[in-house]
This record gives sequence, C-alpha cells and structure tokens, in this order.
Amino acid sequence: MANTTAELEALLVQRSLTDPQLVAAVDAAAEFRILPDATVIKIGGQSVIDRGRAAVYPLVDEIAAVRKVHKLLIGTGAGTRARHLYSIAAGLRLPAGVLSQLGASVADQNAAMLGQLLAKYGISTVSGAGLSAVPLYLAEVNAVIFGGMPPYGLWMRPAPEGVIPPYRTDAGCFLVAEQFGCKAMIYVKDENGLYTANPKTAKGATFIPKIAVAEMKAKGLQDSILEFPVLDLLASARCIRQVQIVNGLVAGNLTRALAGEHVGTIITAS
Ligand code: ADP
Ligand code: MG
Repeated sequence: MANTTAELEALLVQRSLTDPQLVAAVDAAAEFRILPDATVIKIGGQSVIDRGRAAVYPLVDEIAAVRKVHKLLIGTGAGTRARHLYSIAAGLRLPAGVLSQLGASVADQNAAMLGQLLAKYGISTVSGAGLSAVPLYLAEVNAVIFGGMPPYGLWMRPAPEGVIPPYRTDAGCFLVAEQFGCKAMIYVKDENGLYTANPKTAKGATFIPKIAVAEMKAKGLQDSILEFPVLDLLASARCIRQVQIVNGLVAGNLTRALAGEHVGTIITAS
C-alpha cells in the first residue's frame, strides 16, 4: 500500500485513475478537513419555510442565539414553489437540467428571505456555498446562509425515469458538509424524524430513533424523509458518517441537536 506522496504520484502517472491499487492508495491518505468546527444545517423548504412566520421566526431566534457557540452553514430547501415549477416545466417536456436551474432559483429565494431575517446579526447570504468568503463569515459571525441546491444546473445527472432532478437540496447540503469535512449535518424538517411510513398519511406509523442506510433500504424507506440519493452519498462518505433529522417546529430541538443530543432520527452510514 502506497503511503508516501512519491508512491501516490507514481501510481497516478502510471495507472488509470480508477485503478484499484491507486484508489486504495488514495483512500489510505488521511482527509484534510477544511471546516471541521462548522455544522451544516438544512432548513426545509416545504416542511419549514413554506409555513411562514409561525415556523420561521422561532428558528431565526434560535439560530441567532445558538450561533454564539456553534459555527453554522445554513442551507435552504426549495419547497412548494419548486414543485409547482417542476410540474409546469415537466409538462412542457423540459429536461432535468433545466428543472435543476429552476429549483435552484427557489432555494435561492428562501436563502434571500432568511438572509433578510438574520441580517441584523451580521449573518449574510452567499450565492453558492463554494468557499469564497465563507471562512471569513464564519470567523466573524459564526454563520452564513446559502441556497441548498447543488450547482449542477444543466449538468444535473438525470434520474433513470422522469425529469425531476434527483440531487436537490438535501443532497446539496450533505455534499457541502462532506466536502468541507464539517462536524455534523442536521436536517431541520417538520416531523420528529423518520417513521415506518409517512406520518402525514399513515396513521399507525411508528417513530424510528436510529437506523443505518442499509436497514432503511431494506425497510423500503429509501424514498421518504430524505432525497434517496443522499443515502448512497452517506453510505460512501468519508467525513459525515451520520446525519440527524430534527423537528424544527419544536423549540429547542435544533439547539439540542447542535449540542450533540439525540432529539430526532439519526441515520448512520453503516
Ligand atoms: P424539505 O422541506 O426539507 O424538502 P420534505 O418535505 O421533502 O422536506 O421531507 C419531509 C417530509 O417527508 C415530511 O414532512 C413527511 O411528510 C415526509 N415523509 C415521507 N415519508 C416519511 C417517513 N417515512 N418518515 C417521516 N417523514 C416522511
Ligand atoms: Mg424535500
């Protein structure tokens, strides 16, 4: 197993980039965590922001208080306006890449609104979470807001069926947390976490406090509270080996989750 830079370089020059020995050598190298003290939180679009003031104001207060002790990268979901756009665009037979651009504009709208509400604390919205000024914002005010849609745009990899972009804001926020080597990934939604079935439609659904990706798939829950590609991203992640989904309609939940408490459902990579 190669463990020096020189050995890795030799393999990179001589082999295909997917050569098993090369892949193993790259895997053996330790990660460099870019923002190890920051936590990514995703504020749900449909589940939270679309509920308006009743849901958003208490969360804004909670974020303003909790960022004194935690560094936060705050990603936004898209929600009902995006679903409306998707249905119109899909009816017009437009492709996934175009729908991805449309969805991103709605996540950006939500980021813009959240930015106005947090402006008096010095918390700013950035366009695209690619590093740019993010470290400076984190250092100065401990928080920054971004639209959660990943910037694939027209280059969105289409799903095998249909034109709905498979990588939306759950995936976008997860990838920010993983690439920056963040401390944790927390999804703020409108249910206590994962249930055996959608609690909005299934009366007898029971709560699942903790579950692994493989178990979730075995139970047929891969397409439920998180976008399904997130499960595969999580299973193969190097830094973010678990995510927590919390109910943002319950005051204090976000604060407790940031403190490391188990208040919702924890989904583990393995
Ligand atoms: P976001 O606003 O972050 O995009 P979504 O609305 O896409 O969140 O996802 C959260 C919703 O997922 C919940 O409001 C719930 O109705 C639904 N859901 C579907 N299946 C499940 C399940 N098995 N457990 C919990 N929630 C589920
Ligand atoms: Mg969603």
